[in-house]
Amino acid sequence: MKHESDTTGKGFLRLTMIFGFAALLLAAVGTAWFSVYQTARLHEISSEQALRIRLVECRTRISSIEQQFGDEHLPLKKQAELQSKLRIECARFSEIGQSPEVSAQSMVAQWLEHSKPLAGPVSRESLQLMVVDLDGMIANLSARIADDNDLLTLSLNYYIAFISLLMIIVVLAGGRFIISNYRHSIIPINQLAERLAHLNCNLPESLHDTAEAAETLMSGEESSEEIRSVTESVANLCHDIEEKNRKLDELYIRDEKTGLYNYRHFKEHLIIDVERAKRFNGDVALAMIDIDHFKLYNDNFGHIAGDRVLSRIAEIITQECRATDIPARFGGDEFAVLFPKTDQGTAFEIAERLRNIICAEPFEHESKQPGGQLTVSIGVASWPEDATDGYSLVNNADKALYKAKFSGRNKVLAYTPGKKSIKEAS
Ligand code: GH3
Ligand code: MG
Repeated sequence: MKHESDTTGKGFLRLTMIFGFAALLLAAVGTAWFSVYQTARLHEISSEQALRIRLVECRTRISSIEQQFGDEHLPLKKQAELQSKLRIECARFSEIGQSPEVSAQSMVAQWLEHSKPLAGPVSRESLQLMVVDLDGMIANLSARIADDNDLLTLSLNYYIAFISLLMIIVVLAGGRFIISNYRHSIIPINQLAERLAHLNCNLPESLHDTAEAAETLMSGEESSEEIRSVTESVANLCHDIEEKNRKLDELYIRDEKTGLYNYRHFKEHLIIDVERAKRFNGDVALAMIDIDHFKLYNDNFGHIAGDRVLSRIAEIITQECRATDIPARFGGDEFAVLFPKTDQGTAFEIAERLRNIICAEPFEHESKQPGGQLTVSIGVASWPEDATDGYSLVNNADKALYKAKFSGRNKVLAYTPGKKSIKEAS
C-alpha cells in the first residue's frame, strides 16, 4: 500500500511538472506569435495611414486645380500654368504609387497603371475622374485601416483570453497539487513529528517502553499508511535493538568456549554475594575445580580434544548447579562455582557429587590418563568461616584445591583455618 501511494504522489508530481512546463511553453509561443503579429499589423496600419494622408493632400490639391479648370474664360497662360501644376501633382501622385509603403498591388499603383494620368495634357473630365477615384481610394483605405484596427483589437482580445485561460488552468492545477501535497506530505510529516517526539520521551527510559508506545500508537487513532509504516518500523527497530542488547549482555558475561559465566561476571557476583551475606548474616561458599593432568591430555590428544573435555565438564557443572549458583570458567582448565546462601557442608556435598559424576563420565582417550580416568580436584571454602572477603574466599578455596592436588588428585578438600584442619573426601 505504501508503494502504491508513493507512486501516486510521484506520478501526480511528475504530471503537474510536465503540465507546468507545457503551459509555460504555450504561453511563450503565444506571446512570441502575438508580438510578431502585432508589430506587423501596426507597421501595416501606420503605412496605410501615411498613404491615406498623402492621398488626401493630393486629392485636395487636384480638386483645387480641377475647380480652376471650371472657368471657361481662363487665359491661355493661366491654363498652361494649371497644366504645369497638374503635371507636378501627377508626378507627386506617381511618386506615391512608387513609394515603398505602396505595394505593386495597391490601389494607387493599379490606378496609375490603368489611367496613365501623365500620358499627355489632362482634360477637366479626366481630372474629375481622378478626384472621384481618389475619393474611392481614400474611402477604401479608411475602411481597410478600420478593418486592420479591428483585427488588431480582436487578436489582442484573443491573446488576453488565451493567457488568462492558461493562468486559470495553471492556478487550478497548482492548487490541486498544493492540496494533495498538504494531504500526502505536510499532514503525515506533522503526525510523524508528533509521534517521534512522543517516542523520544520514552527512549531514554527503556527501548521496551518505546516499542510498546509505538504499538499503542499504531493500534490507536486513524493515521496514514506511511505513518503507520514508520511507527511500525520504529517498534521493530526497538525490538531488534532490545534483542541485540540482550545478546550483547550475554556475550559480555559468558565464556565463549564453555558457555559458563566468565571471570568478569564471577568476580562481580563474588563481591555482591559476599557483601549481601555480610549484611544479612548469611553464607556464601565457593568451589574451585581444576582438571587433573590436563596438560598431559592436551599434549597427547591435541587442544581440540582438550576443548571437548572442557565443554563436557562445563555441561556437567551446569547440570548439577542450582539456578541461583554461579558456575564460571576461572581460566585455563580451572572452574569456579559460587554458591550463594550455602554453608561449607552443603557446598562440599555438591562438589563431591560433581567430582563423582566427572570421574564416572566416559571421556574419549581417558584410559591414557594417569589412573586410566580423567578426573578433577576440587577445593571448597566458605564465608564467614574460612574468609573475611571475596578475595580471601578465592585464595582459601584455591589453597584447598592445591592440597587436593598435592594429596593425590581426584579429591575434594574443604579449607579450614590451621594447617591440619583440611577436611577430605575421595
Ligand atoms: P594438574 O592441574 O593436575 O596439576 O596438571 P595440569 O596438567 O592440568 O596442570 P595445569 O592445570 O597447570 O595445566 C593447565 C593446562 O590446561 C595447560 C594447558 O595446556 C591447558 N589449557 C588451558 N586452557 C586451555 C584451553 O582453552 N583449551 C585446552 N584444550 N587446553 C587448555
Ligand atoms: Mg589442571
